[in-house]
Amino acid sequence: MRYLPFGSTGVSVSEAGFGAIPIIRLSFAEAGKTLKRAFDMGVTLFDTANAYHDSEEKIGAALSSVRDKIFLATKTMKRDGPTAAEHIDLSLKRMRTDYIDLFQFHQVAKESDWEKIAGPGGAMDAALKARDQGKIRFIGITSHSLPMAIKFTGSGLFSSVQFPFNFIEAAAAEELHPLAKEKGVAVLSMKPFGGGAIADADLAFKFLRSHGGHFPIPGFDSPESVEQILKIYESPNVVTDEDRAAMAAIKDELGGQFCRRCEYCMPCPFGVNIPGGMIYPLQASRMSPEVSRNFAAPAMDTVPQCTECGVCMTKCPYTLPIPEMLKKHYELYAGHKEAGS
Ligand code: SF4
Ligand code: SF4
Repeated sequence: MRYLPFGSTGVSVSEAGFGAIPIIRLSFAEAGKTLKRAFDMGVTLFDTANAYHDSEEKIGAALSSVRDKIFLATKTMKRDGPTAAEHIDLSLKRMRTDYIDLFQFHQVAKESDWEKIAGPGGAMDAALKARDQGKIRFIGITSHSLPMAIKFTGSGLFSSVQFPFNFIEAAAAEELHPLAKEKGVAVLSMKPFGGGAIADADLAFKFLRSHGGHFPIPGFDSPESVEQILKIYESPNVVTDEDRAAMAAIKDELGGQFCRRCEYCMPCPFGVNIPGGMIYPLQASRMSPEVSRNFAAPAMDTVPQCTECGVCMTKCPYTLPIPEMLKKHYELYAGHKEAGS
């Protein structure tokens, strides 16, 4: 594992980080084993969030004994100062630490959110105060909006920016990454597997490693998953023409409109399992219609509850036409069910 400068902070962290969403579904014991395996294999960068249920607590339970050797990043979705300050204190308590290395404003994709954060009494005031008090070392921001991520990177306000990057969504390499390098802003790359759309880990990391100057934060849910990815980092990176063709084929198959399973659209007020419904065609092509129609039934059977109210579309950072896509996916699912009956 290599350790690279985290922007201009003066701190170096492991080139591969640990994205701590998947440990939500693990027990404390399983999460502990997974986190410790990553640490033992050289990972020092751990990224979580107030919104990731008990993820912060699991990190605290597993890694507090090595606190001085790791770089802890967390986030708040709150935009106002008082609640953001509460979140900082809560994160400290949950992670059993007295300082957060990187505190990020979570998923800031709209100007209106940014105005609240940066305005008087906003979350930025709380973060700056916490930094003065020694509770936070650095302040960062995360977004699924490329124009916003570029704006934040150029603002001079942040030590890091977090944005999706994988071979399906590679736009960050064009402007965001060079700008971040110029400004000394560290880039955390979320969604190294395209939110589940990329199944081939070797291919995913060949691409990520062929672009320097960013820190991928794959999610891990077992010690084996940690080993699978981190072992890739032990060999020199070679991207062949065959690999490039395979990446292009996967990208073509998915097209531009695909669900990244970020779940920002949830909950649906009418009980639709939106991500489950949105990924059905991908599942069906990967698994076979026979297997997928049974596997996906619990999610797909909620799709007819959609009233097309449109609430989810206001929350999807990729502006997907969710009700329209769900309808098409349900037709496909119904066809698969009929063919199997
Ligand atoms: S449009 Fe459909 S899926 Fe979206 S929130 Fe409304 S009912 Fe739920
Ligand atoms: S529909 Fe949009 S918001 Fe919902 S999980 Fe998919 S990408 Fe995320």
